[in-house]
Order: sequence, then C-alpha cells, then structure tokens
Amino acid sequence: MWKGVKQMVTWRLKDCPRCGGDTYIDKDVDGWYQQCLMCGYRLELKELNVVRKPITAVIDFEDETY
Ligand SMILES: [Zn+2]
Repeated sequence: MWKGVKQMVTWRLKDCPRCGGDTYIDKDVDGWYQQCLMCGYRLELKELNVVRKPITAVIDFEDETY
C-alpha cells in the first residue's frame, strides 16, 4: 500500500508534463514534490506556494497527530 492512502493528498489530475497522467502532491524529508501515478515522473517543489495552478484539494497535514 502506498503512503498516500493514509493521508489527504493534493491531486492534480492530468497534470504530468511527461505523459499527461494524474499527479499528486506530497511531502517527504526533502520537501514537497509532485509525482505522477502513471509514469512515476517526479517534480520537486521548492515551496508549495510556487505551484502554478490552483490545487484541487486541501492538504490537511496540520490536523494530523503524529
Ligand atoms: Zn506521467
């Protein structure tokens, strides 16, 4: 099971620059990234607020209890 299932993920449908597939935005120790489900293309995001299109869902990490 991939990790995105456990938490709310920001989806960007059909936004992959390589294959046009569905992508999601997630965060790891290196920071935010956008990854394509179809081809695995991964794009690092310097800061979440530099994203060029409106996000399609609300990230809810702040309400999570770790
Ligand atoms: Zn792709």
